[in-house]
Amino acid sequence: MLMSRLSLGCKVFLVSAIVMLMTSLGGGIILYRGAICSLREEVRSKLVCGARIAALQIDGDLHRQVRLSADETSSAYKTLKAKLISILKSSPDMRYVYTVSRTGKKDVLQFVADAETNPELTSHIGDTCDAHNSPEMINGFNEATADKDPTSDRWGDSLSGYAPIKDSNGRTEAIIGMDMSIAQLEKEEKSLSLVAVKTGITAFILSLLLSLAVTRSVLKQVKVFTNAAERIEGGDLGFQVDAGSSDEIGQFRRAFNRMIKSLKESHDRLLEQNTRDFVTGLFNHGYFHERLADEIERAKRYNRNLCLLILDIDKFKPINDKYSHPVGDGILRQVAVLLKENIRSIDIAARYGGDEFAVILPEADISSGVETAERVRSLIEEHDFCLKSQRHPFGEYAPSKIAKITVSIGLAGYPNHHQSKEGLMMAADIALCRVKHASRNSVCVYDASICSEQNVDLQALYQMLRDPSVAAIQSLSAAVDARDRYTHGHSERVADYALMVSKELNMDDAMMDAIKVASMLHDLGKIGVPDSILNKPGELTPEERQTVQLHPSIAENILRHAPQLDLIIPAVLFHHERWDGTGYPDGLKGEKIPLMARIIALADSFDAMTSDRPYRKARSPEEALHEIAANIGRQFDPDLAQAFISAMSANIVNKKAA
Ligand code: GH3
Ligand code: MG
Repeated sequence: MLMSRLSLGCKVFLVSAIVMLMTSLGGGIILYRGAICSLREEVRSKLVCGARIAALQIDGDLHRQVRLSADETSSAYKTLKAKLISILKSSPDMRYVYTVSRTGKKDVLQFVADAETNPELTSHIGDTCDAHNSPEMINGFNEATADKDPTSDRWGDSLSGYAPIKDSNGRTEAIIGMDMSIAQLEKEEKSLSLVAVKTGITAFILSLLLSLAVTRSVLKQVKVFTNAAERIEGGDLGFQVDAGSSDEIGQFRRAFNRMIKSLKESHDRLLEQNTRDFVTGLFNHGYFHERLADEIERAKRYNRNLCLLILDIDKFKPINDKYSHPVGDGILRQVAVLLKENIRSIDIAARYGGDEFAVILPEADISSGVETAERVRSLIEEHDFCLKSQRHPFGEYAPSKIAKITVSIGLAGYPNHHQSKEGLMMAADIALCRVKHASRNSVCVYDASICSEQNVDLQALYQMLRDPSVAAIQSLSAAVDARDRYTHGHSERVADYALMVSKELNMDDAMMDAIKVASMLHDLGKIGVPDSILNKPGELTPEERQTVQLHPSIAENILRHAPQLDLIIPAVLFHHERWDGTGYPDGLKGEKIPLMARIIALADSFDAMTSDRPYRKARSPEEALHEIAANIGRQFDPDLAQAFISAMSANIVNKKAA
């Protein structure tokens, strides 16, 4: 519990300190005990030797004589005592020297002679001596020996040595005992303890220091890897730890580095797969958006120019239809190679859509952007594209049938045309749309005058497309209508009429909602038509008419930026088609024209007829319905036109009655 709350450093320190302390203390105690044992052993052998030498100096026969006479006044006793005193004097460590003989009783011995001169302590012949607690004393009759542990008796604490006294026949007559005071032994043992305590304290301090060193070195390694993990987490996958040493830590560091390297390789591979278009090998749409945002940011920061090109292959669908999709893919790849080879290394080429490519030209102003775009366009026009879907084993396309293609290029520049990513893309798209529907195979620079004159801000438009709420759609359509001084409220009215006929046709709510949004946005493409043409009082020239007729396609291009509005694109794109196939942009005929587009065409025409125009006055609703009826089967879907006339007639009657 407590351990879990401690930091790693504390844990390592505690564990290593405890282990080291236990080891050094354990070792110290063992050593101390060993030292005490050997000290005692040394004393014991000293006693054994002393006793043996002393026993040799005693005459066994004389001793028997003394023992048997038991007369302490006899000269034999005096000689024996004098001998013992001289032995005691020559052995400075000994306190007492005496002789003891058996009594015939087990463990009971008797004193014979004693070197002690103090009458209170002297033992006399016949004084018994209880030896049952001193097995070594009994053993002394057989061989020289000594007590293993100190004994305590009335003469104090002592350690004794014993040796047999032999008579002239070699028989053991008695033993000589020599007592040594243990004060000396205790003194030596005490000094040993002192050394042991000092060693213990030193070991304790050393343990602490060593534990600190161990903790520091463990924490140092942990810190290296924590730091590395943080760098890697922060995205620095190129980070490597220093792998200096050749020990296990060095091996671990090198393994760690290898792991990061392989992580980086997988990450790079994944990133590559994530950012690349697998058909052309160029960057994909998502990555292009990221890079465009980055490049605009950079251009902003350093006050530089930037150009954006959007290329679309002209009439690519027929090529696909004629030669198959895989052959089309082969052409897309060849276009990608041509593109990559003919732009600078700092330029960024991406696959923008189906047959569309986008190129970011950092640092390029409009004129050098146009130069690059023109160079790419003419290279593609002149290039012979192989019609082969399979790659040649050596990586090249095998020569086969050749196809010619052209591209249309829309160009917009930062900061001239717009300063946001969205606005710039919209501007390049609008420019592309214009070139597509004018000449194709050429480069068109976005005409800034188109949007500078009008109320519609490209970025606001883009924001609306990202979040197409009803309110945003209404305000956008109002802004589009406001550009044309004859069409105020036009889109709202078209939506009302289209909903009336939808109700007449019993359409479901989802369809009605789609028709409403499509009606509101059907003229969105007019933001790509210059004011001078939109508001021209007189008749339009054929060229101007062509420009106006671009507006459904421009709207389509814009709406493609809002996936939520996909459903209404056909309605917006084809609302100028005619039932007999003479409309635009594609000349679709009859029921090939989407239903929503046919409904909007009716509502749009009705509102146009009932509004003032520069060259004519507004017609009455009845006249307009007559005109619609007259164009059934030519301009309008017969069934829808009938339903429209019936719904609008009822509406006119209701209005009059009101
Ligand atoms: P234009 O651009 O001149 O108006 O005519 P287009 O025929 O090229 O028409 P558009 O650009 O609108 O059509 C794009 C075509 O690109 C449609 C489809 O056949 C083709 N396409 C889209 N994606 C791919 C693809 O991944 N591979 C191939 N081979 N073709 C594709
Ligand atoms: Mg195309």
